[in-house]
Amino acid sequence: MAYKQPALPYAEDALEPFVSAKTLSFHYGKHHVAYITNYNNLVAGTPLESLSLEEVITQTAADPQKIGIFNNGAQAWNHSFYWNCLTPNGGGEPSGELGAKITADFGSFDKFKDELKSAAATQFGSGWAWLVLDGQTLKVVKTGNAQTPSTSGQKPILTIDVWEHAYYLDYQNRRPDYVATVIDNLLNWPFAAENFRAAQ
Ligand code: MN
Repeated sequence: MAYKQPALPYAEDALEPFVSAKTLSFHYGKHHVAYITNYNNLVAGTPLESLSLEEVITQTAADPQKIGIFNNGAQAWNHSFYWNCLTPNGGGEPSGELGAKITADFGSFDKFKDELKSAAATQFGSGWAWLVLDGQTLKVVKTGNAQTPSTSGQKPILTIDVWEHAYYLDYQNRRPDYVATVIDNLLNWPFAAENFRAAQ
């Protein structure tokens, strides 16, 4: 069963001026599409074809022979997740259970933001910065290239794509500016709260 790209949950220009329509048209319309096309082509006609994308990611993560399937499959999943982590009029602070848990595990929302910014800034080269639930604890982690926290048993709550293609058209080399702007204006805390509830 081929993996179908989910619809973008907002218009391509909905995140302006923070993430431009031009960035989203390439990022969603070209990069994400290419990962999905490659993934579908690689699993076609193999026993993996009948599994869900999540199952394929789990099964191929530790298999060097299937690195191409893993890389394209995990990037397909990471991006589908990332689109939902952004929303027009996002940002602010989460309330409720997730807000309380962030304060409990990081000390304060500002400390959490600092950790997320630091993880995003210090991921060397391409990758992702995440808020995850690891056991009973919320943590900020970073992953390189296509790596995704589920293969380490962590449950993703939120992510920021820090591959250059995510920000270069709008911010050039200023990755920290892109990350701070996303955190302050675009993070989708209602989506994160749903993920947190489901992860427990
Ligand atoms: Mn990307």
